[in-house]
Amino acid sequence: MATFRRILVKLSGEALMAPDGYWLDTQILSSLAEDLAQATRAGFEIAVVIGGGNIIRGARMSAAGWIDRPTADSMGMLGTVMNSLAVETALNAAGVPARTMSAVSMPTICETYARQPALHHLDKGQVVVLAGGTGNPFFTTDTAAVLRAAELRCDAVLKATQVDGVYSADPKKDPSAIRFDRLTHDEAIAKDLKVMDTAAFALARESKLSIIVGSVHAPSSVTALLQGKVPSTIVAP
Ligand code: UDP
Repeated sequence: MATFRRILVKLSGEALMAPDGYWLDTQILSSLAEDLAQATRAGFEIAVVIGGGNIIRGARMSAAGWIDRPTADSMGMLGTVMNSLAVETALNAAGVPARTMSAVSMPTICETYARQPALHHLDKGQVVVLAGGTGNPFFTTDTAAVLRAAELRCDAVLKATQVDGVYSADPKKDPSAIRFDRLTHDEAIAKDLKVMDTAAFALARESKLSIIVGSVHAPSSVTALLQGKVPSTIVAP
């Protein structure tokens, strides 16, 4: 496995959700933050993009017909800011300096995302938590993750999922499903894998960016995944 140093970790908003459906479980949040903190102590430079699916998904909300998609997506982007502030707080509590930078400008709440200051924070060993997705409707935080990873010279995106990689079928439903160790971007797009949207894979292909797909449920799994010590799927050129 290639050696990675600067990584963009993409977490879905649902990763923060409590078992009873409440949007935020503080125990899950602090264990995720501890895991990310451990990765920084192991020498990785970490940027985080967190989704907002635990709060609002614009496409689903607007499908009900009472609200247009751009407005619903704006609400979705605001949800990612709430999640990002939670992750920033938990990272700071875990002893790692972290700062939220939002693609949607809200200067009384957090820094506005700009590439050069973000690179500077990363160079100084701070974790940057990138909020607000791309700042535009009709996109997802998966696409934002790949976009920011390419801008911030990350070596790879770690896409955290429910299972330990990409399977030929849903492993929870089909016991004969097999996990792919490695896929090309073209294969990932052709197979229409649900693990990331096509726009995200296409941008990763264009930027020649590797995507590590794996589970961060077990403690220490971020570091273990980045060091290739636990199973994952790598989507790479
Ligand atoms: N969103 C958006 N533009 C972006 C990123 C996100 O409009 O660049 C909105 C969109 O409504 C999306 C919501 O924010 O449904 C939450 O993001 P996402 O669905 O990617 O979150 P995740 O599934 O990763 O939790």
